[in-house]
Amino acid sequence: MRQIAIYGKGGIGKSTISANLAAGFAERGLNTWYVGCDPKADGSMTLLGGRKIPTFLEQKKEGGKDEDYSVADGFKGVKCVEIGGPLAGVGCAGRGIIVAVHALYKEFFDDRIDIIIYDVPGDVVCGGFAAPLREGFANEVFIVTSGEYLSLYAANNICRGLNNLGVDLGGMVCNSREVDDEESSVSEFAERIGSKLVGFVPRDRVVRDCENLGRTVIEGAPDSEQAKRFRRLGERILENKKKNIPSPMAPEDIRELLRKRTGST
Ligand code: SF4
Repeated sequence: MRQIAIYGKGGIGKSTISANLAAGFAERGLNTWYVGCDPKADGSMTLLGGRKIPTFLEQKKEGGKDEDYSVADGFKGVKCVEIGGPLAGVGCAGRGIIVAVHALYKEFFDDRIDIIIYDVPGDVVCGGFAAPLREGFANEVFIVTSGEYLSLYAANNICRGLNNLGVDLGGMVCNSREVDDEESSVSEFAERIGSKLVGFVPRDRVVRDCENLGRTVIEGAPDSEQAKRFRRLGERILENKKKNIPSPMAPEDIRELLRKRTGST
């Protein structure tokens, strides 16, 4: 059973990438799970025709037992779970992730599953949000970034967390923001931290159009170039054998890398 965690700066498109990967894996016949760890609990909506499902933590709060939690069936049978989060200002989202994933293991996860994708929020790997890694659930991480400084800064910070935890990075995915020389900047960044770029996803309005309809691109525009790109990204992730603990850069070196690449002074 392959278990991968998708990290990256907030708003960088982790859920879009995660949901399209899940849809692509399921389309290939793989028994696939999507586990949304964002308190907003909206990452699985495109796998579920735009439907928002009750979260694990909401159901627990209402007195539900672990075994009463129902898992939603999404596109091509992708099993969708949203962990949810605490009320604003109260409790620890990370603690909720730990409780929920333990329960999922007890009640649902078994050897028949081919791949589990954890869609993990935030750009800071706090003890709580690192739970899928710290608890040894996810054993491979992919970081979504763009070529913008703040996105690479967040990616670098996540690498620092992985380094501290001794967890392997499978590679970086560039979700384009159409900045200059973006693919090669992210590729160079990946090499400098001892990793690699596994995929470049160009900006394409088909993503927004499909999301407005509550669909992934794989479902909503299966013959589009973007759907083909998501499938290729999934293949590269499945084929990926090389992973290693990343060595973060000094933040000023990221600035230097971008200055050199974009020719800005
Ligand atoms: S461990 Fe993370 S999620 Fe939990 S309270 Fe601290 S910062 Fe928030």
